[in-house]
Amino acid sequence: MSIESKVQEIEILFSRLEAELQTFTATTHLFCNVGCGKCCTNPTMEASPLEFLPWAFHLFKIGEAESILEKLNNHSNPICYNYNPISDLDLHNGSCNTYKYRGLVCRLFGYGATKDKFAQLRLATCSIIKEQQTENYNKTNEAINNGLSVPIFTDYYMNLSQIDFRLGNVYVHINKALQLAIEEVLQYYAYRDFPEVE
Ligand code: SF4
Repeated sequence: MSIESKVQEIEILFSRLEAELQTFTATTHLFCNVGCGKCCTNPTMEASPLEFLPWAFHLFKIGEAESILEKLNNHSNPICYNYNPISDLDLHNGSCNTYKYRGLVCRLFGYGATKDKFAQLRLATCSIIKEQQTENYNKTNEAINNGLSVPIFTDYYMNLSQIDFRLGNVYVHINKALQLAIEEVLQYYAYRDFPEVE
């Protein structure tokens, strides 16, 4: 499958997830605090290279893939390269500088569910939501185990890996995933015609 087709398939998967998330948040009334970016500061966050392929493809099309790859290669901070805190003194408030092209983990975390060893669904969300919206968080966990539809991490990652097993079934530090996604696109176009520019 060409890179363009993979990117298209990933974007279709992300659109489906967005629609599911919209319904889920409208039903549960769970919400992230405005300006909060705490989940992006997790220094051990992992992702697959495939979920950042649309991001890497976009960078390639605008001629920034090589320069960003070089910056990533010299980037030693374990926090996601794409995260912009509002200041060095307030790391937990900030935003993603490429929100439109964020990965699957970024989209799922907060409102997606995982299954425990007893096959019970549990919302994978942050301590802020658990502490500040405790009643709602508990009600939501109960509701999802009583049939409320919720995006499930393993389902979405399985769908993702079906697009490209090699790139979708490996989980590495998020900055490594960004790096591998760019390398994939650069290698692909090393001997092919450029895609159409946006
Ligand atoms: S890509 Fe954006 S949303 Fe995802 S972890 Fe990095 S900064 Fe956060």
